[in-house]
Amino acid sequence: MSDSYDVIIIGSGPAGYVCAIKCAQLGLNTAVVEVSSDAKGAPVFGGTCLNVGCIPSKALLDSSHKFTEARDHFSVHGIGVGSPSIDIAAMMKRKDKIVSQLTGGVSSLLQHNGVTVVQGRGRLLAGRKVEVTDSDGSKSVISADNVVLASGSEPVTIPPAPTDDQVIVDSTGALLFDAVPERLGVIGAGVIGLELGSVWGRLGSNVVMFEALDTFLPTMDTQVSKEAAKVFKKQGLDIRLNALVTGTRVENNAVTVTYTEKGEEKSAEFDRLIVAVGRRPRTRDVFSGDSGVTVDERGFVFVNDACATEAPGVWAVGDIVRGPMLAHKGSEEGVMVAERIHGKAVQLNYDCVPSIIYTHPEIAAVGKTEQELKAEGVDYKAGSFPFAAIGRALASGETEGFVKIIADAKTDRIIGAHAIGPSAADLVQQLVITMEFGGSAEDLQLMVFGHPTMSEAVHEAALAVDGIAIHMPNRKRR
Ligand code: FAD
Ligand code: NAD
Repeated sequence: MSDSYDVIIIGSGPAGYVCAIKCAQLGLNTAVVEVSSDAKGAPVFGGTCLNVGCIPSKALLDSSHKFTEARDHFSVHGIGVGSPSIDIAAMMKRKDKIVSQLTGGVSSLLQHNGVTVVQGRGRLLAGRKVEVTDSDGSKSVISADNVVLASGSEPVTIPPAPTDDQVIVDSTGALLFDAVPERLGVIGAGVIGLELGSVWGRLGSNVVMFEALDTFLPTMDTQVSKEAAKVFKKQGLDIRLNALVTGTRVENNAVTVTYTEKGEEKSAEFDRLIVAVGRRPRTRDVFSGDSGVTVDERGFVFVNDACATEAPGVWAVGDIVRGPMLAHKGSEEGVMVAERIHGKAVQLNYDCVPSIIYTHPEIAAVGKTEQELKAEGVDYKAGSFPFAAIGRALASGETEGFVKIIADAKTDRIIGAHAIGPSAADLVQQLVITMEFGGSAEDLQLMVFGHPTMSEAVHEAALAVDGIAIHMPNRKRR
């Protein structure tokens, strides 16, 4: 191992490893420092996303969805499977196999691209030096022309519900249950609460969710969050708004939760409790006080639009910096930084970062919501189209939800898209592409969409923006 590089990256999550691969592709001598290691002391790549986030949660979401399909939906197709059972150990084994396949894949990619891997805890010192502490405590120092901080995030904890990794767990623990809890409490009705609550709810848990706010999914377009609340209620998720957990008591492998709901004091008992109240940037011990790196008022590493910190030659990407905590946002920041280090002034378009909740139906969004545009005083036009009127959706029995498109009233340029329903994530990605190209509602209106596809909902929603949808009565005419 050399002690001097063009670029050193601290952290190999989706932000760090993608940045490392891109730097190496651009011919930069690159090293990545990763603190996580397996039983043999080898680094574990992929960060939260691959190990305890996006991938394992989606594996369990898919397994549990198939279970509900077999239990609740096969019979209408004339398929009889009796009463299906779930083997949790087999489901977890499948999830673990997918995780190790992907983390192993990242390891091979780093190797293939000639990235030097350094196992240990990295800490940025002044002058773009990085101190690495390995598992036996010994320290070494390496340096680089550029250092990229990509140490990610960790779950927020709250004093009334300290996690014990047994009965009260965070998202990582909720991916490891060895049996379906009969009574499952979830604190926080956000993305993690909804996804992991859905997994265990589908498999038979009675799920109660405690949400401190009085609005459900407040950052989503209101039309979408209203539809989502209806759908989840129908699925049996008991979402209690304005519910603040004040204490927990663990006894006999169960937990009593005390909480106030709309001001009234209440209590409830659960077999397991998931705390999913947000994540915070992992900045402790990642840089020294004299490194020149600063944090903003919310504890995120302070960066400009190009992810440069206040210390020359030091960059930061992913969950450790402002913006949504999403794997794809971090990865594209990693690419942008690699390009900038190599001398090309690439700029990530933060207005076109999609976000998705992988419940069933999926919920996806990009750009502005109607309530944001109203607050900003922007003149807009919006159109939505229900899946209930889409032939393909009917054929597959997936008729809940709609696609909604919002365009600027003067320019017709698309500025937001929101969907709840089948393949919502992939449909909204079509709008991401349209928005990146500065496309208008009329552009989509004049395009040919395959029939019968879910994408026809995008076409019809674009037509509905101007009140000219074909397959539903329109409220207004051009
Ligand atoms: P991380 O993935 O957290 O990686 C940081 C890495 O840095 C880790 O490997 C860590 O070990 C290492 N590290 C930390 N400190 C040091 C140090 N001092 N020295 C060396 N190494 C260090 N996002 C999506 O876009 N889609 C999803 O479907 C999705 N699902 C999720 C589900 C769950 C349950 C959770 C918890 C998160 C999910 N996310 C999802 C969010 C996503 O996982 C994160 O946005 C993403 O992993 C952030 O990437 P990152 O590279 O910034 O940080
Ligand atoms: P979140 O911000 O999505 O939701 C947390 C919820 O908890 C909020 O609704 C909040 O009002 C509520 N809350 C906060 N404190 C509370 C309290 N004391 N009592 C009750 N409710 C409380 O956060 P999360 O679900 O923990 O997810 C963390 C991050 O991980 C998110 O920012 C998200 O971007 C990312 N993530 C993304 C995906 C995805 O892209 N599909 C999946 C999982 C996680």
